[in-house]
Amino acid sequence: MNLEDIKTPCYVCEEELLEKNLQLLDYVQKKSGAKIILALKGFAMHATFPLISKYLHGCTASGLHEALLAKEKFQKEVHTYSPAFKDEDIDEIAKISDHIVFNTPSQLLRFKDRVKSINQNISLSLRINPEVSSSPVDIYNPCGLYSRLGTTIDNFDESVLEYIDGLNFHALCEQGADELEEVLLAFESNFSKYFDKLEYINFGGGHHITKKGYDIEKLIWLIKEFSSKYNVKVYLEPGEAVGWQTGFLVSSVLDVFENKMAVAILDTSAEAHMPDTLAMPYRADVRESGQAQEKKHTYRLGGNTCLAGDIMGSYSFDKPLQIGDKIIFEDQIHYTFVKNTTFNGIKLPSLAIKRKDGTLDIIKEFGYEEYKNRLS
Ligand SMILES: *Cc1c(COP(=O)(O)O)cnc(C)c1O
Repeated sequence: MNLEDIKTPCYVCEEELLEKNLQLLDYVQKKSGAKIILALKGFAMHATFPLISKYLHGCTASGLHEALLAKEKFQKEVHTYSPAFKDEDIDEIAKISDHIVFNTPSQLLRFKDRVKSINQNISLSLRINPEVSSSPVDIYNPCGLYSRLGTTIDNFDESVLEYIDGLNFHALCEQGADELEEVLLAFESNFSKYFDKLEYINFGGGHHITKKGYDIEKLIWLIKEFSSKYNVKVYLEPGEAVGWQTGFLVSSVLDVFENKMAVAILDTSAEAHMPDTLAMPYRADVRESGQAQEKKHTYRLGGNTCLAGDIMGSYSFDKPLQIGDKIIFEDQIHYTFVKNTTFNGIKLPSLAIKRKDGTLDIIKEFGYEEYKNRLS
């Protein structure tokens, strides 16, 4: 199938690029001894799980639904963390999880007996807030002022130690091995006195391992040093690094007109389909385009919702845009379709996989039902 014939909007995940990321992550596993699990919150196209599960050890889930997906579709280790678990969910979570990570001592002490009675083999952990992070923006900083994510040293309760096998932290966002080293220093200085009773430490996600220029050898060195010094297993749970640069979102131009500058309306939406471009915010790359004015024809690209701010930005092209032209937003696989909404009744983009032999499999299409069924 040709991209020109594809029904838009559509996310296309490229199997070959995904496997390239997985091979790099596997290299880290093999050289460092760490286990890497997929954070479903960032990437959960389960049609790719047969491929991912060849390399990674399992999934990290943020609650019941992600845990169910991990259990059903990935079928390896299930680690479940939630800022707070609910009474009505905890029994089912205990049944299907191998590890439960509590956010606070109070949650752990509240549920520990119940989960152990349901699943004797379950391992318990507590999420720590190391209170060090150089996360680029506040909305993605789990260690910011008044953070609700993880337990600080001041709130640590030593009575949890007899129940836990591990500690977790998650303090990075699109960051490198140097930033991990800083977090580790702070984490160790406050918590290493407790490590001798533990089997594992989970370094969370946010490691931008598959980004060009990431210092892989330093990461491997940090993990090896840490695990041999404290005699613990290390887990990493990236989401973004798995889906990083593994595909794109194809859309079509629906209309073009002038309002003091050229405007093009697309059959996709920044708000509904590329939410991080507005939340982070960042400018998505568009294939064969330049910055505004760089090429001959500049357009403000906008989405097909009634939100005034549903704008992807200004991009320039060699040729004038025509109705029906395809606009391809690069690197739109992580943190995109997992966050999609049907705001304004806009159609959800289809999901497709480009196989290694070049064939394009449309694995899911959406319509009116998805919109209607979430309302009443
Ligand atoms: C979001 C999250 C991850 C994954 O983070 P990425 O930036 O996608 O690698 C891992 N662990 C926890 C606890 C998270 O909240």
